[in-house]
Amino acid sequence: MKRIELFYQSVLRINRWAVVLLVVAALLGGVAASVGGAAASPAPQSPDQLTRRKIDAHYHFGGEGFIEATVANAKKYNTIYLTSVPYEKISVFKAAQEKHPGVFIGEGRIQLDDPDAVKKIEGFHRAGFKAIGELTKPLKRFDDPAYYPIYEKAQELGLHVMFHTGIVNWRINRAEFSGMDHMRPAYLDLIMRRFPKLTIQGAHLGNPWYEEAAEVARWDPNLYFDLTGSSLLKKDSDPEFWGRILWWRPSVGSEHSPGGAHAFTKIIFGSDERPEGFLGNIERFEKVLNANNIPEDVRELCWYGTMAKILGVEE
Ligand SMILES: [Zn+2]
Repeated sequence: MKRIELFYQSVLRINRWAVVLLVVAALLGGVAASVGGAAASPAPQSPDQLTRRKIDAHYHFGGEGFIEATVANAKKYNTIYLTSVPYEKISVFKAAQEKHPGVFIGEGRIQLDDPDAVKKIEGFHRAGFKAIGELTKPLKRFDDPAYYPIYEKAQELGLHVMFHTGIVNWRINRAEFSGMDHMRPAYLDLIMRRFPKLTIQGAHLGNPWYEEAAEVARWDPNLYFDLTGSSLLKKDSDPEFWGRILWWRPSVGSEHSPGGAHAFTKIIFGSDERPEGFLGNIERFEKVLNANNIPEDVRELCWYGTMAKILGVEE
């Protein structure tokens, strides 16, 4: 009797272990299947934030070790950098671009009040640049007609234009004649209407004029914003804030709300930091997308698709 009891006890113990092993095997199998599926599928459901393809739409050329660090990040994080370059650095930039194909796309930095701005835009275009910007600290408002020849030229050449919007850095001990009030996001509205073939990127979602920026983007089909700068740090404990500002959805169509679009299709990823800060920017942006339950097809546009189309990046 005793022996039979012992026999049954050991069978039960073996069965318990078998169940545990089966559960572990099933879990491992599931993980393997999902990893395999992601690698095999051209449009994965939830690609990893670090390795999914990305375009950093707000990046500045220069600084110690800049090229090497950017190339390393480009590989590690599967990213192309739309890089704002000063006119006098065109040849250095071109050399880096040729040495490291698929890493850099050129964005020509000009000053709106520079009398040679139009000529420089042509020079950037000849050098293969795809955009101009970041336009910042204009002496007049962004929508002043004095700047129209610049916008006209960008439209004619098919160059994307990036405007700084909102608060702006200070140059200590130097008098300046421009400030945030010349760079309100609302001023982009008139420019878009006047030059409807331009694609425009407002930087920083107009910090602190977020609502103004979002509503302008809602109506202007070729206007996008990046969320770079201090905003994601400021709202770190309230990432749902961005969903309240960017509120419209395909289901909310009416005479006064363009249907068929998701508000986050107006947002593009960017870092506006040196290469060391790049990872933090990926994580903060992903946190916003997760907190607001952004669907994968919209995420793909934010990380990559929208800028790839604008810049003519080949698939
Ligand atoms: Zn800026």
